[in-house]
Amino acid sequence: MLQDVHLAFKDNEVLKGISLSVQEGQSVTLIGPSGSGKSTLLRCINQLAKISSGKVFFDGQEITKSTDINQLRTRIGMVFQHFNLFPHMTVLGNVTEAPVQVLKLPAVQAREQAMELLRRVGLDDKSNAFPAQLSGGQKQRVAIARCLAMKPRVLLLDEITSALDPELVGEVLAVIRELAHQGMTMILVTHEMQFAKEVSDKVVFMDGGLIVEQGTPDEIFQNPKNQRLRKFLRAVI
Ligand code: ADP
Ligand code: MG
Repeated sequence: MLQDVHLAFKDNEVLKGISLSVQEGQSVTLIGPSGSGKSTLLRCINQLAKISSGKVFFDGQEITKSTDINQLRTRIGMVFQHFNLFPHMTVLGNVTEAPVQVLKLPAVQAREQAMELLRRVGLDDKSNAFPAQLSGGQKQRVAIARCLAMKPRVLLLDEITSALDPELVGEVLAVIRELAHQGMTMILVTHEMQFAKEVSDKVVFMDGGLIVEQGTPDEIFQNPKNQRLRKFLRAVI
């Protein structure tokens, strides 16, 4: 999916040659210290960040300057740390907006699909609530449902539980766990190491704009080879 990707902000090289492949149906977790380039890597995939060199592939095709970015983004869903729901729309409105506006799905069908997705994230009883009336965990679950409404091929999840009160983290992780079991392709950044261990097919440790080590959860957590990874794991687990 990524081939020798470099990215610099002015003279600050943030990604220094990243190659990463993600197979369909896999959950890949990015871990690493703050500032190591995890968010930037995710943003390269849906072109929120412009790479300086290298190649990004999606669905077997190289994403180039001429790629229709809006079309691409309908197939790549992204959820961020800070909820970005439309505050003036109900939960149902949030989940139906893009399918109706972008995919031109008939309103009735969009509503049906939205209610089904809200059931999946356990929030069908909140369809008429406004974001301000929801807890942080509920907002993130709506954000996930809103993403899924576009039927993305891959989900990018950037520390989506980091801003939540600890007691609300579990309900959001449960939704992601379920998606992983259903075979959704996902790339996620998380500080929840136990969760990463449990849900990932592959764990990728980044430091200083490089992938320092990658492997199965067992390889990374039980048998880390790299010194920096060991130190990182000692500090976070
Ligand atoms: P992580 O998600 O691993 O914490 P980031 O990808 O957010 O790391 O950031 C990596 C580096 O890139 C940091 O040094 C950060 O300051 C820098 N950076 C990120 N976004 C921008 C930006 N829009 N402009 C300039 N520098 C940025
Ligand atoms: Mg980040």
